[in-house]
Amino acid sequence: MNNQQETTPVLAVQHLKKVFGKNEVLKDIDEAVENGQVICLIGPSGAGKSTFLRCLNMLDQPTSGAVIFEGDDLTKLDEKHLDQMREQMGMVFQSFNLFPHKTVLENIKLAPMKVKGVAESAATADAHRLLQQVGLDDKADAFPASLSGGQQQRAAIARALAMNPKVMLFDEPTSALDPEMVGEVLKVMQDLAKAGMTMVVVTHEMGFARTVADKVWFMADGYIQESATPTDFFDHPQTERAKDFLAKIL
Ligand code: ADP
Ligand code: MG
Repeated sequence: MNNQQETTPVLAVQHLKKVFGKNEVLKDIDEAVENGQVICLIGPSGAGKSTFLRCLNMLDQPTSGAVIFEGDDLTKLDEKHLDQMREQMGMVFQSFNLFPHKTVLENIKLAPMKVKGVAESAATADAHRLLQQVGLDDKADAFPASLSGGQQQRAAIARALAMNPKVMLFDEPTSALDPEMVGEVLKVMQDLAKAGMTMVVVTHEMGFARTVADKVWFMADGYIQESATPTDFFDHPQTERAKDFLAKIL
């Protein structure tokens, strides 16, 4: 509508710092995610990518700095308000974390009913819609253990979407999968991106980063060393650190 709205980020960090004991994992990070943007966060193992993602929804408490989500500094909120904000951020982990004693459908319905008070009929209808979206509606009544890893991860994505989040955070969603299942999960994520979802994705899938990301953030040594379009980053990395990283993985 107006300029102000277009440029207000959904999610931003300011001078974000996270220290574990003497280990300065995140040193001073300033970044912003605009509405509808897909960010791929890449970097070497141990760089702090998971810690960064966990600071975004305050699963890890930042040592200092601000995490601004929809205009609120999450580091200043009490637990009750923080929980309300967290409901608007979907998170998908490497391990799928589905409830093993519940069917796929029940896994998806649970939070909307319990946390948001959605009526069962509406939650069920929405869960079926989401299962169709991730190509799993025929597995609605199956238990997680009977599904393949790729199917479980797609169910986990559907479960996160059931809360109607404003942003989705993915932490290496395909790293635990057998290679033949990686594509089906990336396809669901790509469709989600095309539909306009705002996403921050930690990934080692460089093909996905190249084709789906609006921006690549390269993290190393406690900083986002580069923030660039995929073409700029992959074809013209600026820092020695990034050149070195890309030389090892490509
Ligand atoms: P990445 O996801 O990029 O591989 P992580 O964010 O998992 O990196 O870890 C970054 C650093 O932070 C590592 O040195 C790790 O040992 C440390 N770290 C992460 N979580 C904790 C924790 N809960 N307690 C202590 N150190 C941690
Ligand atoms: Mg990690």
